[in-house]
Amino acid sequence: MNEQLLNRALGAYLGFACGDALGATVEFMSPKQIQKRYGVHTEMIGGGWLGLEPGQVTDDTQMSLALGQAILDHQGWNLKAVADNFLAWLESDPPDVGNTCRRGIVRYRDDGVLIGLPREDEAGNGACMRNLPVVLATLNRPEDFESWSLEQSRITHHNPLSDAATLALGHMTNALISGQGLEPCVLQAEGLIGQYSEFAYSPYPGKASGYIVDTVQTVLHHFFNTDSFESCLIATVNQGGDADTTGALAGMLAGAKYGLDQIPARWLERLDRQVVAHIRRQVAVLVQLGE
Ligand code: MN
Ligand code: MN
Repeated sequence: MNEQLLNRALGAYLGFACGDALGATVEFMSPKQIQKRYGVHTEMIGGGWLGLEPGQVTDDTQMSLALGQAILDHQGWNLKAVADNFLAWLESDPPDVGNTCRRGIVRYRDDGVLIGLPREDEAGNGACMRNLPVVLATLNRPEDFESWSLEQSRITHHNPLSDAATLALGHMTNALISGQGLEPCVLQAEGLIGQYSEFAYSPYPGKASGYIVDTVQTVLHHFFNTDSFESCLIATVNQGGDADTTGALAGMLAGAKYGLDQIPARWLERLDRQVVAHIRRQVAVLVQLGE
């Protein structure tokens, strides 16, 4: 096992969870409201509209763990197992469930639909946000990355903007974890914008909603314009809006780039212990899959 690769893979997944837990405090607030209440929001204090414990994560991390666990349990791809884990998660009465995610999972529960028809109103960020386990599981089998990503996405989100963003962010994360640095990420971002110009993020329009275009713009703007894990996450979540999800995705990219060692200890120590243990178990197995 390449130790640096493991450090970046752990950085991506734990960074993702840190962004979720840090951002959830200010989810659905505007930058002005955040400023008035916190100045700059920098600490993992819980609260927010969900009334969370400090370090508690939300659906972003929970759905990722559900997806990763299905891959782990089957030592590979089993779409029905992924959908079953999403359903078990939904039935566990989680604190937060996105509307589009709920609709897709209920559609699977009631009609057995694993891949719905394309829909214009499925351009939320819910599929993109949970795809990191697929990135990790396909590090050694790149030929499977796109099909696994799209299949898990379309359980709940079947939309070309969601598809394109999920693939682009996944390819970027793969390149960073593999140690290829920023250049392939820049090319991926350019490719995404070439395909769908609405993703252009410079100048940054400043919207950070759950619409996949707003989410990607927010994540890429802050990822490419900061120079540390901590500054990337703080800048992202203080944009408010869907701050736990933009925070999680920014944390994924920044964690993959800077590695586990660059995640501030005060955040890692606050993060839900069970979640940290679950993430560590998943990373250890997922990155070796297909070797
Ligand atoms: Mn969430
Ligand atoms: Mn969210």
